[in-house]
Amino acid sequence: MVQKTLKQLPIKHKALLSGLALFLLVLIFIPSEQAQASKNSQILEVGKRYDIPVSIDSPEQLQQALEVDTPDWQVFKIKQGDNLAKILHRAGLTPQETHYVSTAGKDAKQLLKMRPGQQLELLIDPAGQLESIRYQLSSTKTLEIDRQDTNKFASKILEQNLDTRFNFAQGEIVSNFWNAAVKANLPENQIMNLAGIFGWDIDFALELRQGDSFNVVYEEHFSNGEFVESGKIVAAEFVNQGEVFTAILHEDGNYYTPQGRSMRKSFLRAPVNFKYISSSFKKKRFHPVQKRWKAHRGVDYAANTGTPVIAAGDGRVIRATYDKFNGHHVFIQHGEKYVTKYLHFTKRAVKKGQSVKQGQVIGYVGATGLAAGPHLHYEFLVDGVHRNPRTVALPQAKPIAKDEAQAFAKIAAKRVEQLGNTKRIMLAMN
Ligand SMILES: [Zn+2]
Repeated sequence: MVQKTLKQLPIKHKALLSGLALFLLVLIFIPSEQAQASKNSQILEVGKRYDIPVSIDSPEQLQQALEVDTPDWQVFKIKQGDNLAKILHRAGLTPQETHYVSTAGKDAKQLLKMRPGQQLELLIDPAGQLESIRYQLSSTKTLEIDRQDTNKFASKILEQNLDTRFNFAQGEIVSNFWNAAVKANLPENQIMNLAGIFGWDIDFALELRQGDSFNVVYEEHFSNGEFVESGKIVAAEFVNQGEVFTAILHEDGNYYTPQGRSMRKSFLRAPVNFKYISSSFKKKRFHPVQKRWKAHRGVDYAANTGTPVIAAGDGRVIRATYDKFNGHHVFIQHGEKYVTKYLHFTKRAVKKGQSVKQGQVIGYVGATGLAAGPHLHYEFLVDGVHRNPRTVALPQAKPIAKDEAQAFAKIAAKRVEQLGNTKRIMLAMN
């Protein structure tokens, strides 16, 4: 009869009743404190594994169960001016222990690299003795230092195995490259990588147009099915004003065209990073730049004062000074034939006679000299003659080494196929 009554009750009431029943059961069977002490032959030990007799049917329960099983690591945030000794002191440990830890083999030296914002995990036993230290070196590497006996610790670096999978992104430029890439779900670091791969062929600051498009295949790393980080771009295609550029990653870490020519060239197309210039995209749509170039034999990049300007190629600074026309300016000689000039800096970052590397910051955008507003005026000279840096034919890039050509051809064929497949997937999805 009781059963019948129960069945007729609403679900909430049933739950309440069974909860109450359980509570009463617990009250009946719970031992008094004294009884417990005498019965309690099994004290839980730190670091020992115990089976947990619970049924697990939600991720939260699983998490709770796992936490019971995990030793109590204490997390210490590394602050400005911290070092190992200070952190161990905060944890109530002795200078002696700091000494043991810091001399626990060559891997322990990694602790010298700790930076504010990172964290150190300590495992301290109930007697207040340090058992282990963990320090995350990267997304896949962890330094672990463990006690061996009373006064000896050993260090090791644990490496996490990651699964690599491929992801891809495609987009067409409507307002600017950055927005198109974000809309295509390309992570921020990959947007910059993509611009870097094509930075020798395409001036991302001034030469992108509405209708330009990109197609990228990149790696993603997973650990136990969980996303850890995005990896390298393995293949990419960029269509700029109707011209198609394709780049394939080789095992040497460099990018080549499918025919095996290096993407890396003696000169970058633009001596400023596009991310500072993207706002000028709309204004340049009708392309007055060519005419403007003829009028004053240089290319102007409007950018905020202080925007870093980089050397377009390796070379030597042949002039770094100030005059009332050019303001603060820098000239660089590249080999025999080429000179690049950068005018109107607010501040120079190099000196005359200095060697510079491609991509090195040589000064900061300003409006010194005859300049209406902050901008970089950039000139490119071949054998003393001004040429348009964005259209001039540049020295041919070196092809891939002969003994690598065959291996690369195989990779390239596979990657070109991948690029084609992603296009078909997108077409099918739309
Ligand atoms: Zn100019």
